[in-house]
Amino acid sequence: MVRLRRSMDFASQHPALLKYGAGKLGTQVAEIYQQLGLAWEFLGLQCLHWDGFAKAANGTETCKICGKVKSQGDAWLLLPKNGRKIVGRRLLPTSKKTFSSEEKARLLVDSIEFHGAKLKVEVQNAYRKSLFGKKRDITIAADRMVRLSEGDIECRFDTHTMQLRLLERGPRNRLPFGAFPWELSRKQLKKFPIILEYDHQGRFLGLTLFRQQPRARSRQVSRTNGRPENRQAAATGSPI
Ligand SMILES: [Zn+2]
Repeated sequence: MVRLRRSMDFASQHPALLKYGAGKLGTQVAEIYQQLGLAWEFLGLQCLHWDGFAKAANGTETCKICGKVKSQGDAWLLLPKNGRKIVGRRLLPTSKKTFSSEEKARLLVDSIEFHGAKLKVEVQNAYRKSLFGKKRDITIAADRMVRLSEGDIECRFDTHTMQLRLLERGPRNRLPFGAFPWELSRKQLKKFPIILEYDHQGRFLGLTLFRQQPRARSRQVSRTNGRPENRQAAATGSPI
């Protein structure tokens, strides 16, 4: 690490650079400096800042070994090629407050493509959203939403539901019809409500499973589908 920094100092003080980087050699030295900087960044990711942070005169704290500024996040991730890979931690909504905008309520939006499977995680606190102008505000519930896509099948988890969906079988603007499996009794369906979904041609679209909650379900609208009332209405209107 120290040798790397010395090399960077050496490159940065190269006479070819002092003439404002003009000329071929100047460009080459500047490029080497950039590459050393990148190497430094990746080496720094391995640093666990064992020796602690030193406070500079302007109040910023930097690692004594790698020079990382304490409050700044890393721009890269370093993952082992073999073995368990961990990115982030399990984040849940942090506040019971309802925020005034989506931006203020948002805690995490991140995604990864892993050997062809796509995974997206969104975590948010509750916020107000105006649907039709300012007159009709609705509250979007605090939620942790996980979406996994494998080929043309998508699996979504949020606080209240689990959905399995076959993707894009025609225009998405049409709401799916929904029905409960008729062989199950109401008593059983109350314990694990499952709704099967199909389109106007009767093709299977997916299913929704309402997850058991320790307390009563709130009446807030979940952001992932945003239309539970419609689906409920469709479900109760069909033979059970
Ligand atoms: Zn460090």
